[in-house]
Amino acid sequence: MTHASRPHTADATGARRGHQVLQRLRENPPNLWYNGEQVKDVTTHAALHGGVHTLAALYDLQWREPDATLFTSPSSGRKVARSFMIPKTHGELHSITVAMKVWEDYTHGMMGRVPDYINRAMSGYAAGAAFLSEGDPRFGQNAIRYHEYLRENDLCLTHTLIPPQANRAVSLAKQADPYLAARVKEETGAGIVIRGCRMLATLPISDEIMVFPSTVLKAVEEDAPYAFGFSIPNNTHGLRFICRESVDYGRSHFDHPLGSRFEEMDAVVIFDDVFVPWENVLLYRDVARCNQAYSRTGAVVHMTHQVVVKNIAKAEFMLGLAHLLVDSIGAEGFQHIHEKLAELWVNMETMKAFLRAAEADAAIDEWGVMRPAWNPLDAARNLFPRLYPRMVEIIQQIGASGLVAMPMERDLKGPLAADIKRYYQAARAEAFDRIPLFRLAWDASLSAFASRQVLYERFFFGDPVRMAGALVAGHQSQIQEQAERVREFVREGRDEAFAAAAG
Ligand SMILES: Cc1cc2nc3c(=O)[nH]c(=O)nc-3n(C[C@H](O)[C@H](O)[C@H](O)COP(=O)(O)OP(=O)(O)OC[C@H]3O[C@@H](n4cnc5c(N)ncnc54)[C@H](O)[C@@H]3O)c2cc1C
Repeated sequence: MTHASRPHTADATGARRGHQVLQRLRENPPNLWYNGEQVKDVTTHAALHGGVHTLAALYDLQWREPDATLFTSPSSGRKVARSFMIPKTHGELHSITVAMKVWEDYTHGMMGRVPDYINRAMSGYAAGAAFLSEGDPRFGQNAIRYHEYLRENDLCLTHTLIPPQANRAVSLAKQADPYLAARVKEETGAGIVIRGCRMLATLPISDEIMVFPSTVLKAVEEDAPYAFGFSIPNNTHGLRFICRESVDYGRSHFDHPLGSRFEEMDAVVIFDDVFVPWENVLLYRDVARCNQAYSRTGAVVHMTHQVVVKNIAKAEFMLGLAHLLVDSIGAEGFQHIHEKLAELWVNMETMKAFLRAAEADAAIDEWGVMRPAWNPLDAARNLFPRLYPRMVEIIQQIGASGLVAMPMERDLKGPLAADIKRYYQAARAEAFDRIPLFRLAWDASLSAFASRQVLYERFFFGDPVRMAGALVAGHQSQIQEQAERVREFVREGRDEAFAAAAG
């Protein structure tokens, strides 16, 4: 069986620039399918190239701000992306925040899957490699080697965890077809063969895919074939991605300011007897270990750190956007507008406070890594899915019909330009300034891009219902501690009452 090969770490260049990202995607095209056709070149494809070029711009950006975004590789001495750092001090941890904020500011948090996200995950797995080694000594070594390989080549990953949404009432093994959800088909001395499907991978316009277990496997033998963690190149033989319809309609930045830039794409992943060599495997057939891997290694904490930095950038953007809308139409005097701006501001400060608390209370974990404090991050990741749809709603409530009474770029250059100049003016903006602002507000609150952002924030980190369940289970001791204090208070009142009655 053939499989895509990886370049030698000796050929690595460290932190990449945009042209290297594009060149690698051209030379090693991920096997994407779009609207019935195989995508030959993601860098030019109409539905994808906007996001791809933004991705490349992010890699250029890291060389424009190298002090913030890069650090010296501990193995090669090259400059590499700071999001691959395994922090040992509070200072190093904060430097990762600063680096991630550079990318998040560039995308205004609208490209949730900038490569930092999985870079942090893989750094977590490498840091907690000893946990993986308890499953198989090779796996911990694989995690460390893979993390180094990614760091030195500055590769970009997508990832997939969730089985297809066929029948959520029964386990993976009990689906109509046991090979619906990706599972181990065969094991050989050289590796494993995977057949089946995974539901979603955001940013398939990337170099490799991290295929990891979701944490909802049942600890029964029949779930074991679905329990694995590995990474492979996106052009591996038998691996296919089926893209959803693009939210980039191929229009200008003027008409479609967010969709034309930040379309990261989501795809269903098909494994058609994909061969995975053992050296790429980090977890295998050990359901309990798979379910614990995110938390025990610390990967989930490092990923959530990135998520909260993204949330801050997004909340800042929505606040700034709301203010500009209010200002442009002279709505600043209305009380409910103050309330809405205040709500956006509080959301932004809440996310900042969570991040600050996570950094301030960070501590060395069992692997010797400076791990951000989990409680504020867990609170942030459970809260933001509720805050973001409301932020979008606020933009709709402020923008009102201005969000749809909006011409397009060609109208401004057409025969009706004089009408447009006259009738689209705002209190504090000429028509030709107001229109791009309101088009941005439309793309943030109403367009297909905007809807997908809301869905993303609701679900990308997991089903909010089950996340809340995990939160309650995971913070039981804290909840019990508070319950005990209240119980004591109730007891005091009761004792007082009975003592008075007895007296
Ligand atoms: C835009 C977007 C991007 C994403 N990107 C990625 C990605 O890059 N990689 C990745 O791995 N995943 C990704 N996801 C998937 C994400 O992890 C899932 O959406 C999330 O875990 C919820 O799973 P589901 O979508 O399969 O919903 P389902 O599990 O099918 O849930 C559907 C409904 O049924 C309810 N439900 C189902 N089972 C239960 C239960 N046991 N108890 C209570 N309620 C239940 C849910 O609450 C929900 O209302 C992405 C999702 C979105 C929307």
